[in-house]
This record gives sequence, structure tokens and C-alpha cells, in this order.
Amino acid sequence: MDQIKKYLACEGRVNIICAETTELVEEARKIHDLSPVATAALGRLLTIGSIMGSNLKDANESITLQIKANGELGKLTCVTFGTSNVKGYVENPLVDLPLKSNGKLDVGTAVGKDGFLYVVKDIGLKEPYVGITPLVSGEIAEDFTKYFAESEQKPCVIALGVLVDSKGVKKAGGYFLTLMPDATEADIEKIEKAVNQAEPISKMLEKNMTLQQIAETITGDDNLMVLLKQINPKYECNCSKEKFLQGLATLKIEDLEHIFEKQETIETTCEFCNKKYEFRKEEVL
Ligand SMILES: [Zn+2]
Repeated sequence: MDQIKKYLACEGRVNIICAETTELVEEARKIHDLSPVATAALGRLLTIGSIMGSNLKDANESITLQIKANGELGKLTCVTFGTSNVKGYVENPLVDLPLKSNGKLDVGTAVGKDGFLYVVKDIGLKEPYVGITPLVSGEIAEDFTKYFAESEQKPCVIALGVLVDSKGVKKAGGYFLTLMPDATEADIEKIEKAVNQAEPISKMLEKNMTLQQIAETITGDDNLMVLLKQINPKYECNCSKEKFLQGLATLKIEDLEHIFEKQETIETTCEFCNKKYEFRKEEVL
């Protein structure tokens, strides 16, 4: 079962969120029939989405993450709710690119470097918060690190990894490590050293390390405090026939009448879960 756990290291001066998201990324792969590189790209975005969702306080709150860049995948979208559950899609799910010289999936090229990361937080305020930062590499973890440093003034280390083979997602997960304002130079040095020595997150998960062992490895601290025991994120779509009906209601009546002259029903498809909804004329007009 997928899980998110939270810890404090360095006597409370460093905050760590660790996530295993293998099942929810595999679910996304199956729903959208994602190619390996699309699985890795969307999987990384869903993982950071789930991690960010775990910090929301209320199930009515949501965060939408979007990457729009010049790579072949096109636009990537992830929405997370107060529960840390996520849904997402990629514009061109079948994109296939040659592996990088180190044998890894070329997420950066598939996403593209020339573009922007959009973070829209709807946390019950009058207007949603919108943060926009230019991409660094299209590799997603680096792009979010820059977003947090610049838009939220949060110095952090983010790692996101998805391991895919011919059968599907083998392992997926990530971590999000933030320095509290009282973190010392010595803490920073210790973390830098530990993070640099640690293996990639997907490798650590493949070795079946627990999230706590991973948190210990990336902080060099084996005296962690458990901040949150466990939540279990899932791939979840909250679409409904009613929501699509509201969407249709925003169209002009004459346009709808025009459609119903040619066909008996209007069919809509949810881009997050592929569920189809059919509307007869009397339901819409
Ligand atoms: Zn849906």
C-alpha cells in the first residue's frame, strides 16, 4: 500500500516528508496507457502532488500543479486534495524517446526545459494562490526545488523517482526535505553530505528500505522524531455527472441546440479518469 510519513531530524530543525507512490503511479499508467517516459514524468508530478497534498488541512482544499513546456509530452497536470490523494494526466501519453546515455528515461527532454511550472492553491481564501516559476531542467524535482525556494522562500531538497519496466511501475516515490528557520550551518552540511551519498529514491525503494530508513539515510540522523505516522495516498478522481452538467451549462443554448439537432446525446469524457458521461437533450436544455 502506498504511504506518506513525516519526520523531524536534527532535533526538530529539519522536516522530512517521505512517500512511496508505486500503486498510484501504476494506476495512472493503466488509466492513461502511459509510455515509460510519460509514466516517469507524470509519476514524479503525482508524487510531489501527493506530498504537497499531505500538508493541506482540509479535504475541501486543493492544489493544482501544471507544467507547460516545449517537450513532446505537452501539458502535464496534477490535482491533489486535502487527503493527499491525486489525479492527473499528460497531453501526449504515448511519447517515446530514446534512453539517455546512462540508461535512464529522458524525462527532461520529454517535458522540455523551456516552460513554466504553475502552482495553484485553493485553500478556502477568496482568491486562489498562484505561483509561477520558469523550469530549470524539466526533470521536475529540480523545478519544484526552485519553485519552493523562490515562491515560498522554503530552502529544500526534493527527490522524485519512478522505476518502470516492461510490466509497469516497479517503484515510485519521493522525499521533500525542508530546513526550518533555526537550522544551523552544521545541519546544512550534514544534510548535504547525506543527500549526496544517498542512492536515488527509486533505488532505495527497490531495495525495500522503509520510509524511515530512507529519512535516516538522507539526513544522516538515526534519532528521528515521527511527526506523522502514516497516510495512504491513492489515485482518485472526484468527477461526477453533475460537475460535467455544470460545465455544459456554461455553453450557449443555441450551440447546445445545434449539437442536439445532429445527435441524440452529448458524451463527455473525464480527462483524469476516462469515465464517460452521456447527456440527453432534456437533461441539458
Ligand atoms: Zn474523473
